[in-house]
Amino acid sequence: MPHIVDLRSDTITRPTEGMRRAMAGAEVGDDVYGEDPSVRALEDEVADLFGHEAAVFVPSGTMGNQICLRLVVPPAGELLCDAEAHIVTYESGGAAQHGGIQTRTFTSPDGVPAVAEVAGAIRPPGFAMVPTSAVAVEQTHNRHGGAVVPLDVLTDLRLLTAQQGVALHCDGARIWNASVAAGVNLRDYGVLFDTLSVCLSKGLGAPVGSLLVTDASRAAEGRLLRRRLGGGMRQAGVLAAAGLYALRHHLARLAEDHRRAYRLAVRLAGAGAIDTAAVHTNIVSVALPNGRSALALASAAREAGVLISVVDPHRFRLVTHLDVDDEGVERAGEVLVGLLTS
Ligand SMILES: *Cc1c(COP(=O)(O)O)cnc(C)c1O
Repeated sequence: MPHIVDLRSDTITRPTEGMRRAMAGAEVGDDVYGEDPSVRALEDEVADLFGHEAAVFVPSGTMGNQICLRLVVPPAGELLCDAEAHIVTYESGGAAQHGGIQTRTFTSPDGVPAVAEVAGAIRPPGFAMVPTSAVAVEQTHNRHGGAVVPLDVLTDLRLLTAQQGVALHCDGARIWNASVAAGVNLRDYGVLFDTLSVCLSKGLGAPVGSLLVTDASRAAEGRLLRRRLGGGMRQAGVLAAAGLYALRHHLARLAEDHRRAYRLAVRLAGAGAIDTAAVHTNIVSVALPNGRSALALASAAREAGVLISVVDPHRFRLVTHLDVDDEGVERAGEVLVGLLTS
């Protein structure tokens, strides 16, 4: 049996040899005491990349989002976000449990928020109504096939939220992919948001770690909330070193993942399964016609050595990453086209 091609997610990547060496050689200290030089270096570098004062290293993107939301939405306040956002689909109700935050959603068929719709949804303070405290944007949009939200839309959202006195949060788990695909500087994205959460453990290929990025005073409060959630880590420098290595070596190469995802899309488009124009980054989201089961397709693909993820009963997802090469992509394309046309 040939090598398995695992397209379920870009979280499955394992640290490369170079990354492991960087981790083994990392200078460390107790980060709860604020004494880990590698964590400090990573936090300073990421804050600077996004044009903000400070960043806080956290164990996961979920914790990054959860802390950010609490920094910008008070208990019983409201967060507006897309109905397919990670915050309301994959975070196990954390905003409600930890922050006492009410979420209300808008829909955006292609993953790009319609600014007029968001404007109409924002509620000012008033009798019995829950006023909107923040709007969240996902860049790139996971459940919308890795869609990139264009810079002009983000700029309009910044203007709108500033006018209304509402904060703007970015779930930037894959903001690196957006930056590479759209040719937009991380800083040009970063300065538009009050808070961002960014992940090192997706396409960048680090084993663990995310950062929340914001101003110095929110970051200080964020450290307190992190501790309260049990996210204070000790010699976390071994993980931060992986992140620093990833930023140096795995950022520009995301373009290869995008090229491979597009290649897969072209193969699947040949079988009539997808519109290639919908593929912006490293995620290919495919809706199955005629009530065909995504679970059945995934299990047949698994038999043939190709792992895909089922996101809905009739939709599956392919994600390219550091551990998938051209040969793997060709083989996966062949297997999936075979199954889709049979
Ligand atoms: C992966 C991801 C996160 C963070 O997930 P964790 O599993 O907590 O690391 C947050 N937002 C989006 C859009 C993601 O894809």
